[in-house]
Amino acid sequence: MSSKSRKRSGEKDESSSDEEYVPYIPIKQRKKMQIQEAEKRLGKVKPKEEEKSESSDAPEEEDTGPKAHVSLLDQHSELKKKAQVRKETAREKMLKEEQKILESVAENKALMGVAELAKGIQYEDPIKTGWTPPKYILHKSEHKHEELRKKHHILVEGEDLPPPIKSFKEMKFPRAILNAMKHKGITKPTPIQIQGIPAVLLGRDMIGIAFTGSGKTMVFILPIIMFSLEQEKRLPFIDGEGPYGLIICPSRELAKQTSELISHYCKALSAEGFPELKCGLCIGGVPINDQLSIIKRGVHIVVATPGRLMLMLDKKMMTLDVCRYLVMDEADRMIDLGFEEDVRTIFSYFKGQRQTLLFSATMPKKIQNFARSALVKPVTVNVGRAGAASQNIIQEVEYVKQEAKICYILECLQKTSPPVLVFAERKQDVDAIHEYLLLKGVEAVAIHGGKDQEERSRSVEQFKKFEKDVLVATDVASKGLDFPEIQHVINYDMPEDIENYVHRIGRTGRCGNTGIATTFINKAVEESVLLDLKHLLIEAKQKVPPFLANMESENEKFLDIGGEVGCSYCGGLGHRITDCPKLEALQTKQAQGIGRRDYLATGSADY
Ligand code: AMP
Repeated sequence: MSSKSRKRSGEKDESSSDEEYVPYIPIKQRKKMQIQEAEKRLGKVKPKEEEKSESSDAPEEEDTGPKAHVSLLDQHSELKKKAQVRKETAREKMLKEEQKILESVAENKALMGVAELAKGIQYEDPIKTGWTPPKYILHKSEHKHEELRKKHHILVEGEDLPPPIKSFKEMKFPRAILNAMKHKGITKPTPIQIQGIPAVLLGRDMIGIAFTGSGKTMVFILPIIMFSLEQEKRLPFIDGEGPYGLIICPSRELAKQTSELISHYCKALSAEGFPELKCGLCIGGVPINDQLSIIKRGVHIVVATPGRLMLMLDKKMMTLDVCRYLVMDEADRMIDLGFEEDVRTIFSYFKGQRQTLLFSATMPKKIQNFARSALVKPVTVNVGRAGAASQNIIQEVEYVKQEAKICYILECLQKTSPPVLVFAERKQDVDAIHEYLLLKGVEAVAIHGGKDQEERSRSVEQFKKFEKDVLVATDVASKGLDFPEIQHVINYDMPEDIENYVHRIGRTGRCGNTGIATTFINKAVEESVLLDLKHLLIEAKQKVPPFLANMESENEKFLDIGGEVGCSYCGGLGHRITDCPKLEALQTKQAQGIGRRDYLATGSADY
């Protein structure tokens, strides 16, 4: 700056010469100084206090300047308080908004039979059974029961909690069953069995939340076998009678597996002189007449998928007149797949009170609401947070470019010995991977909804018998299918929702074994899914790769605003219900009025 200009800027400095240094004062401050001078001259100087309060919107440096009488610390805490109040109201607003959304998706219609609805019948008490726990267990204090639950990390909720029992013998199963279990390597109950089996044997409705591979199938299979046995002994089933127990599964493969397991125990019983129990299978993709001829001879238990079951009920090929036991396995998948309306209709066929059991690896709010409308004084047994993956699984997430994925599978196959499961969302991808692996000489089979049932069954069978090393599949193989020795699950793509991811990786690391899950991700994966994955990895104490760890989203800061952690609709940990992609997709589909079958034909599930 020239001395001339300096001179100009300090006009009031009369004594200054050209050479003297005059500091530069900004025009705003100069004006203020002029006003203050003028006021002084007129004798209108304001007291400091007044000046300060009036100039509350003055620049910050004035407040914090040396003349400020409030300490920096006080100012800081004042500002913090204000921010807190703002944050609190924003939080409350958000929680309220979430509550509203949740209410809008909640189940209001009760799941009941038509007669019950018409007569306004409401069941208040659970069904009574002839089973009681051993006396010495009944006489134990609640404190002792709680200790046992704690030891096995069992969370249980409900009225009049049934006692946990830590051996199958004390659950009073006959020797034939105990031996048949031993045959399968089952000697001691798993946590879900410790609490779940006594609850079911006592006739209680139950919501079972357990990670896949926890042994939940036995929780509903063993009691229904015992109840059927009791009925058969009392009054043998005649032609066309039954079923007494109904088990509904979301996929044909799961239904088949469950019915085979039931048959295993029924055969073991009749081999020891107990009456013969019959189990029917009602699934699509196989001739209905074969199934019908079995049912016509009278069945104690039926395992079914919703579509075929609806058809048989509708055509009066089967009735639920004497059915007193209903299980919905993988209930969350069932609702996701759009079977909700079918399940409602199935409920309407019941003639009396039934014992209802709902099982799932994940239990989003929507299903909990669904359960509440159908269950009587339910006991909720939770072994592991709903939605969390088993800690026996080492989860590896790798960034692989879209075009490199198929070749990289070959490299990944080297990580472990077979059998390996490869999952892909789309049927076309399953076919492409299958073809590529066959070309490279890998013993692989594939299943998806586009293949006929015979081929699907054959592939699963070969894979189970270790005749094939790799099974490539859509999510049809991710639900409940039991391949005990799977070493490695490869996710060719990240599923659209995190629940599916939990189901998929749950195919490995079962029954205390350790397994590996490798997941390919890249730019094509949606941010919200990646955030869910990141938080799931953190929760399961897994390594979070840097590209996920570095991901920071606006939404993340709202994750812990109170209420439930993460999304109360789908259980995802990386977002709130207000940003739930699953709910959004559902609402869009509902708005477009797309029916279930259209959804299945084009949707990601590919059943
Ligand atoms: P699930 O979670 O019902 O699909 O069961 C997965 C696997 O666990 C099946 O292979 C069962 O045979 C096995 N399993 C079930 N209960 C037990 C148990 N108490 N001890 C050892 N293995 C079990």
